[in-house]
Amino acid sequence: MEAYRRKRRGGRSPEPRGTKGRSRRGPVFVVQKHDASSLHYDFRLEADGVLRSWALPKGPSTDPRQKQLAIPTEHHPLDYADFEGVIPEGEYGAGTVIVWDTGRFEPLRKDTGASIAEQAERGHITVWLEGHKLRGGYALTRFRTGKNESWLLVKMADEGADARRNPVRTEPRSVKSGRTVEQVAGEESP
Ligand code: MN
Repeated sequence: MEAYRRKRRGGRSPEPRGTKGRSRRGPVFVVQKHDASSLHYDFRLEADGVLRSWALPKGPSTDPRQKQLAIPTEHHPLDYADFEGVIPEGEYGAGTVIVWDTGRFEPLRKDTGASIAEQAERGHITVWLEGHKLRGGYALTRFRTGKNESWLLVKMADEGADARRNPVRTEPRSVKSGRTVEQVAGEESP
């Protein structure tokens, strides 16, 4: 969370300050479409009071044969999961954000008793997503450590898998407001 605050010191961004906690019935995930200097999707999983985050240059897939690059980014505050809006020019991550998908999730490795934080430490996280667009098992696997730490996000083969779907292309709207990034940019730009 320190990295999150440091990058947003100017205070001009409408993003959450990260001061509010939330109580709910289970951990949440969110995928935010972020039209910044380059368009990407931010995949975030609630764990230990923060949102662990990865940037997906190509977005998530429902096809188990697709391996999607996932670059870890700084932890975000829990209330960021609801954030949709325009980050002003000159601020970190300047651009437009929508809540492309969100819902609850469960860690899948219950047998080992490993929490998401422990799974992250080991470089292999498996979760079951209950989103509007994404459902079923997903695995995140670290394949490079160090300065260029990199992971892969892969859909597991289950009833939520569908190689013919391409929700990144065919379901571009926010599940929160029904808007596209272009609409949000048009409506909320300062
Ligand atoms: Mn981003």
